[in-house]
Amino acid sequence: MFNHNYLTVEDKRFHYIWLRDNCLCPQCRHPTSFQKIHNISDRTTPPKPLSAELGKEELTIDWDENPSHQSIFPLSWLMIHAYDQPHRRREKGKEEKILWDKSGIEAYSLQYHDFPNCDRTSWVKELFQLGFTFLENMKLEELAPFLADNIGPIYHTEYGAFAPVKFKPGANDLGETDYPLSPHTDYPYRYNHPLLVCFYMVENTVMGGESVLVDGFRIAQDFRKDHPDYFQILAQTPIQFQQFYTEFQYYYQRTQTLLKLDYQGEVEEITFGHSHVYNWDLPFEEMEEFYAAYSAFFRYLENPDYQYCIRLQPGNCLLMQNARILHGRKAFSTNSGSRHLEVVYLSWDYFTGRHNFEQHKHLYLSNN
Ligand SMILES: [Zn+2]
Repeated sequence: MFNHNYLTVEDKRFHYIWLRDNCLCPQCRHPTSFQKIHNISDRTTPPKPLSAELGKEELTIDWDENPSHQSIFPLSWLMIHAYDQPHRRREKGKEEKILWDKSGIEAYSLQYHDFPNCDRTSWVKELFQLGFTFLENMKLEELAPFLADNIGPIYHTEYGAFAPVKFKPGANDLGETDYPLSPHTDYPYRYNHPLLVCFYMVENTVMGGESVLVDGFRIAQDFRKDHPDYFQILAQTPIQFQQFYTEFQYYYQRTQTLLKLDYQGEVEEITFGHSHVYNWDLPFEEMEEFYAAYSAFFRYLENPDYQYCIRLQPGNCLLMQNARILHGRKAFSTNSGSRHLEVVYLSWDYFTGRHNFEQHKHLYLSNN
């Protein structure tokens, strides 16, 4: 079991320095906040055990320190945190995603979750897997308490907690007209945290106005395969998005690539809104190639093979991951009736944070 700088438990190696740094005792880790107190960088020599004893349930290490120090690690905790595994996917939840196109989502046989009797775990799972989920039969006054109880505080925008989307003379945004909206993510022009978008349909009696959803991650995956050069251009070219608000007196500008990659080179965020694209800072020689890449990607978003079209009914609540699902709207005729949607935003972190809490709380709360 002993070696110079690590020990082995159930075929997994653990460095002494890692074990010492992760000591679970109350002097090293605060007992109720679970935050680290011990500072591993304070020591000038690497930690060494005097003894290490592997029991049935736990690993006990007496460290060669003055004053003496003992660490006890439950084996179940060690196995969950083991890092000695090849090709380990570290990002939680990634494997749960189901990337979809039109035929994929039709085969999925999507359900509207009946509020308030629906099972929370089923819509949460769907929002993770598909990037969106529907609830139905919700009253408008039930929306804010539902979001607060299940996800977290509402993110206030210039509109306040709720942003009404209905036809308005002197519109602030194309959303307040009867124009069609091509698939886009919301707030491409603001430096927000990744958002969860909530659409609540209050009234919908117009001709047209169907909602269109596309899975941006699925499109990015196909686009990368079909056009690797264009994909790189979109992952590397900063685009300036803008919004000029006469009513609110804000002029937002944000510079961001259309595709944002994570440290493993996977697409983690899509930022796209054609109506907000203002400029890109490119040399003359690269401009035409950029337009070719941009237009090719845009055509994927508008390809019906990727689009899931639905007509939202009053009482429907659609929740979406803004960084992944792009949404649009078909044109409608204003003299055929009324269309009134309320939009609410929350930080996507509240959704993942609550989910992670439910998944991992046993690791923290069982010993108290
Ligand atoms: Zn300790």
